[in-house]
Amino acid sequence: MKLSVEKLRSDYLKELTNISEQKPSECMQCAKCSAGCPVTRAMDLLPHQVLRYLQLGMYDKVFQSKTIWICASCFTCASRCPRDVDLTKLMEGLRVLALREKGGNKLRPEELPVDMLKEAPQQAFVSSFRKYSK
Ligand code: SF4
Ligand code: SF4
Repeated sequence: MKLSVEKLRSDYLKELTNISEQKPSECMQCAKCSAGCPVTRAMDLLPHQVLRYLQLGMYDKVFQSKTIWICASCFTCASRCPRDVDLTKLMEGLRVLALREKGGNKLRPEELPVDMLKEAPQQAFVSSFRKYSK
């Protein structure tokens, strides 16, 4: 049982590192990210606490929290970090992992309204398909 939990943790870490190109182990827990984050009032875990749980391999705590969905991808934390940890990319990677865990395709090209295809920026489509489709 212990082995499978360890494997699960290393799989998550590998996948998160692949998606975000960031290493949670680089964080030194100075909390400058949390001090600058504009939306901590709505979070149940502070940004540096998310990093700590990742370092401890406690992904369940992170996935149960609403913090990764509250994050506004504003890059403030990334610009303040003295260790060059890009927490914005990690948050994005965690959202992708959480959605993949839930399984299934949430977004199909054939279901998109034609008007939206004409008007919305292409970057929005690429980002949405990365998040919501397998
Ligand atoms: S600012 Fe960087 S080093 Fe400091 S706690 Fe946040 S992620 Fe970790
Ligand atoms: S990117 Fe997310 S976690 Fe970082 S400062 Fe902005 S809202 Fe907070």
